[in-house]
Amino acid sequence: MTAASSTPSGATAGSATPPHERARPLAKGSVYPAKDLCSQCGLCDSRWVAYVRRACAFLSQNFEAMEATAHGRSRRLDDEDELYFGVQQRMLSARLQQPIAGAQWTGIVSRIGVRALETGLVDAVLCVGQSPDDRFTPVPVLARTPEQVLAARVNKPTLSPNLEVLEQLPGSGIQRLLAIGVGCQIQALRAVQSTLPLEQLYVLGLPCVDNVSREGLQTFLESASRSPETVVHYEFMQDFRIHFRHSDGSEETVPFFGLDTPKLKDVFAPSCLSCFDYTNAGADLVVGYMGASFGRQWITVRNPRGQVLLDLVEPELDTAPVTSRGDRRAAVQQGIDAYDKALKLPRWLAELVGFLVQRVGPQGLEYGRFSIDSHFTRNALWLRRHHPEMAERHIPAFARRIVERYRLPSP
Ligand SMILES: Cc1cc2nc3c(=O)[nH]c(=O)nc-3n(C[C@H](O)[C@H](O)[C@H](O)COP(=O)(O)OP(=O)(O)OC[C@H]3O[C@@H](n4cnc5c(N)ncnc54)[C@H](O)[C@@H]3O)c2cc1C
Repeated sequence: MTAASSTPSGATAGSATPPHERARPLAKGSVYPAKDLCSQCGLCDSRWVAYVRRACAFLSQNFEAMEATAHGRSRRLDDEDELYFGVQQRMLSARLQQPIAGAQWTGIVSRIGVRALETGLVDAVLCVGQSPDDRFTPVPVLARTPEQVLAARVNKPTLSPNLEVLEQLPGSGIQRLLAIGVGCQIQALRAVQSTLPLEQLYVLGLPCVDNVSREGLQTFLESASRSPETVVHYEFMQDFRIHFRHSDGSEETVPFFGLDTPKLKDVFAPSCLSCFDYTNAGADLVVGYMGASFGRQWITVRNPRGQVLLDLVEPELDTAPVTSRGDRRAAVQQGIDAYDKALKLPRWLAELVGFLVQRVGPQGLEYGRFSIDSHFTRNALWLRRHHPEMAERHIPAFARRIVERYRLPSP
């Protein structure tokens, strides 16, 4: 994305000083260029705001160019795995043989960060710590030690301004960086990569959907958990249930189908309701869970740099091939209609539907496709209703192919 318009040092052809050296971060609290669609990725909180018009995932996005620059080619749309999960040279499921206590899943992401520092592959790891006052308020950091990486383990399931730390790079001595982040953060990072004062950049991506502001998270917890104040960890899991862990160590599970859809329809950030980068197309390596069987993590290696990252931990992993079972399509179509009508099932019925779907519903990669289909159709409809002027140019070709497989309510 940037290569065509910038020299390697970031100077735009014909100008003496690169734009970011003349720019200043925007004032916190001001209206950012993407307005209501801003995901607060942090780019505008750094001098690299200079490139926001072409870097912001919600102002302009170009998956084909980003994939071609990052991986050497864009995804093959006639290959179902690439259509759904992006450019890849390898997919597998895994878990750390010795899970890291307190990690989101088994801690593969944190372990890669630790090993990247211990082996000298990088000088720093961009990761997300937490506020001392609030477990769910994200604090992006450039971790220089394994202890700092480990302290940043576990999701802060709220919009996080990861790229604000770019501001700390000049003069820091950091020349090789591992950046961990979600799709919108990585799209912007890739767009400014050639202008950063770095020799090497490795990108470890997390899949991401349905993120929320801190206030939105509170609404979600209060509507879904029996004890919102004591939740320390939660995850939407492959058994179609949300698993909440409480501060006393107890676990609570709630069926997806029992969520209060009328109340939660507006809780997700508008950026996330207009996002099609669920599987983090620009990352070298992606570590999530949704393409793996219950309890395991799902790994996609997009390019040789991603394999370098995986090599750091592969001897410590219990790995298995990805599998796929079931047929998602009828369930996705029913979900589109139910969501649009904002139906809320009584708890007993939600439990029954959850029980049945868990036994006969989609699993492994088919669960991943179920989740992608459900979110892409919902987001395409949301965009057509709320931002019709940008909907068609904003929905990437791969997402359009997926959305066209379903019958959507009229905008
Ligand atoms: C907001 C969010 C939504 C997600 N949604 C999905 C999903 O729908 N499907 C799926 O398969 N996977 C999703 N993931 C990824 C998944 O939940 C795990 O994070 C991933 O499998 C890694 O687990 P782990 O135990 O290896 O991570 P850990 O070792 O616990 O490390 C977690 C890492 O997440 C980073 N992080 C924490 N909060 C944020 C944030 N807000 N933004 C960016 N980075 C952050 C930290 O820096 C840390 O390095 C999501 C992650 C996040 C942060």
